[in-house]
Amino acid sequence: MNRKLMIAPSVGCCDLFHMEEQIKLIDEKSDFLHMDIKDGVYVPSFGIGPDFLDYLKDKVTKPMDAHLMIEHPQQYLETFAKAGAAYITPHTDCIERDAFVTINKIKALGCKAGIALNPSVPLETIEYYLPLLDKVTIMIVDAGISGQKVITQTFDKIRKLKKIREEKGLDFLIEADGSMNKDVYRPLYEAGADMVVLGPPALWNKAEDFQEAWNIMEQEMEEVFQ
Ligand code: MG
Repeated sequence: MNRKLMIAPSVGCCDLFHMEEQIKLIDEKSDFLHMDIKDGVYVPSFGIGPDFLDYLKDKVTKPMDAHLMIEHPQQYLETFAKAGAAYITPHTDCIERDAFVTINKIKALGCKAGIALNPSVPLETIEYYLPLLDKVTIMIVDAGISGQKVITQTFDKIRKLKKIREEKGLDFLIEADGSMNKDVYRPLYEAGADMVVLGPPALWNKAEDFQEAWNIMEQEMEEVFQ
């Protein structure tokens, strides 16, 4: 289907008992595979790790994006590049002391460079290295804590970011991540998001059967843009 928003399901949300069929469906129908890496320190939860990507790298066709919600991401760039990450996306506050070195290293490893901003982080933080980036992930809730309400002020951040992209003639992708659900597809799209990360509220929780959940998600996305 022709979607207005590209989709990046968070693959770590797959049901362990149905991992293979769910990943195959996601790989066939998505634009990106979003990999939520959490260390229990930068965020108070744990996620999948590089082994997960490494296992999948020869079995999937879509680009894997390693969203690094971890302290000291600099120490793990080679690990994620080797594990097959096409994009590596650390958080602003974890790289602010060596942002240029970190981003240049991601690129030297042959990966695309993303950056993620928590809701309280202003766009000015990334102003100087914005031209180096391939993707900016705007968190619409605080990273790594499930069950939050979408913080709608972040839509304005996306609007500003899109404007900056136009004014400066840049071509990074704008991604929205966190508590994604059908009520925010349209405002996010209108604000300027190119892609959304899908988690349980947008996809897995829609039905017990994953194919059915997928169909509901597709239908919801279609209806929103009619
Ligand atoms: Mg994420």
